[in-house]
Amino acid sequence: MDTTTIGDITFDDVVAAAGRLDGVAHRTPVLTSRRIDDLVGAEVLFKAEHLQRVGAFKFRGGYNALSQFDDDQRAAGVVTYSSGNHAQAIALSARLLDIPATIVMPTDAPASKVAATRGYGAEIVTYDRYTQDRAAIGADLAAERGLTLIPPYDHPHIIAGQGTVGKELFEEVGDLDALFVCLGGGGLLSGVALATRALSPGCRLVGVEPAAGNDGQQSFERGELVTIEPPRTLADGAATPSLGHHTFAIIRRDVDAIVTATDNELVDAMRLVASTMKQVVEPTGVLGLAAVLAPREELAGQRVGVVISGGNVDLDRYADLLAD
Ligand SMILES: *Cc1c(COP(=O)(O)O)cnc(C)c1O
Repeated sequence: MDTTTIGDITFDDVVAAAGRLDGVAHRTPVLTSRRIDDLVGAEVLFKAEHLQRVGAFKFRGGYNALSQFDDDQRAAGVVTYSSGNHAQAIALSARLLDIPATIVMPTDAPASKVAATRGYGAEIVTYDRYTQDRAAIGADLAAERGLTLIPPYDHPHIIAGQGTVGKELFEEVGDLDALFVCLGGGGLLSGVALATRALSPGCRLVGVEPAAGNDGQQSFERGELVTIEPPRTLADGAATPSLGHHTFAIIRRDVDAIVTATDNELVDAMRLVASTMKQVVEPTGVLGLAAVLAPREELAGQRVGVVISGGNVDLDRYADLLAD
């Protein structure tokens, strides 16, 4: 049993992760759009993690975790489960560090994500998202083959790695009045929370979930971890049934609110990103922007950060979504 408590995961771990990622991960740009500023009535600063290696912030946590393996762990290999971006992050990190990787992926994962993961040289094991327990499959593989399991969000090294998104953003833009971050299992939000409380303590930090899968919002409001049926949403990267124990503890302590966005709002936000900033982003990637467009009068005249978390979407599907 893992005995780490939240007090053990601090901003110092985010700083250490930034050191490991230096020269390996991209320091992604901050994008802006006058038209979006006018629509929102605020200054909106986008941290562009769809331009990160593997097309999502997940590379940060994956590389931070794998680069801390000892020699025996490196030789035996890593196993993980993921609907896509964490899979690619672990597969690429493993290749860079010369570690064998086994990835448990849902049968309905986007084809582009499966192909990219296989392309990095990982072995793929598939499962049915609606009937099988991926964590159990991952744990079995770990036990049978002596692999180290690195889950997609509920791990101190993953949280610390994702936190470097927030660290870079505040270092580049300074204090913010509010920051909107997509929320699936909470690795990104909890890591960014550590950076926010250290670097811009007064910033209002908001997590954004798909409306069809608001387990995090329910957990936040009830003060206990709520698990829901696997949600059906366009935001496949945030279709998690529950937050993690570590991530929930940090989110409860450091996050101000959790709001939701519908699939239609995500498509509208994708279209806006394409037409204004000329960027291709995945549905999960625009949860933060969708929430900012809600509209929210409280943002008037403020400096508002938004994390765009990823850009991995099959182009045929992307075209279909935007055409509707
Ligand atoms: C994984 C992922 C998320 C959600 O991150 P969590 O750490 O699980 O909350 C959001 N956007 C994209 C693109 C992702 O891949």
